[in-house]
Amino acid sequence: MRLTFLGTGGVWAAPVHGCACRACDAARADPSRARAPASALLEVAGLRLLIDAGRTDLVERFPPGSLDGVLLTHFHADHCLGLTLMRWSLAEPLPVWHPHDSRGYDDLTKHPGRLRFQTCAAGDAFCIGPVTITPVALIHSRPTLGWVFAHGARRIAYLSDTRGLPDDTYAILDDSPIDLVVLDCAYPPGVPDPRNHNDLDEASEILAQLAPRQARLTHMNHDLDEYSAGSTGSLCFANEEETVVIDE
Ligand SMILES: [Zn+2]
Ligand SMILES: [Zn+2]
Ligand SMILES: [Zn+2]
Repeated sequence: MRLTFLGTGGVWAAPVHGCACRACDAARADPSRARAPASALLEVAGLRLLIDAGRTDLVERFPPGSLDGVLLTHFHADHCLGLTLMRWSLAEPLPVWHPHDSRGYDDLTKHPGRLRFQTCAAGDAFCIGPVTITPVALIHSRPTLGWVFAHGARRIAYLSDTRGLPDDTYAILDDSPIDLVVLDCAYPPGVPDPRNHNDLDEASEILAQLAPRQARLTHMNHDLDEYSAGSTGSLCFANEEETVVIDE
């Protein structure tokens, strides 16, 4: 399995419009240090699955036939803006799995174009070819699902957006070892009342409990990048365009 991070930023990812902090200035000077909205590509068993679609250049990145489906964590704009453009393709229909959310995003589900929306429920696993996908509940301001991918004995869990994890989700994740956990971490430690997303202390506690073989933090805001620049700890922040390979 290969997971490539195409967007690792939160809604206040560097560079933030109007911000002159070190992280934002650095991201303006060096675009490789800027963080795009949530998107990741999972390649497994010949399948190419997009996890979230926040980037607005997905149409250019993925020519017709290059994706087998999209797994949408939830209907916030920073996770589905790319789909508002991709839906008007004339190529083959593209399945999009997502949580039940009667609000959706703007007119996306009313006018889906070539997208084929399919509702998923936490705990109801399904298969795409040889890959088993288990949706898991997350704790966010909208109905949100994390995705656990299993192929053979290998497992990857993608858990964003969330603050903490429900007990039922811990139970599914504790079921067998996890090779890679990708976890929401939007804020540095000490932010008062970090709503809807983990801060670094909370994310560290979750990872300590899950004990995956590898972890990456994602959905990072500029103040977390600012904090990490001055930190000497072993922080497992995802990098833009980074690929993590899990050997079969
Ligand atoms: Zn900033
Ligand atoms: Zn969100
Ligand atoms: Zn988000």
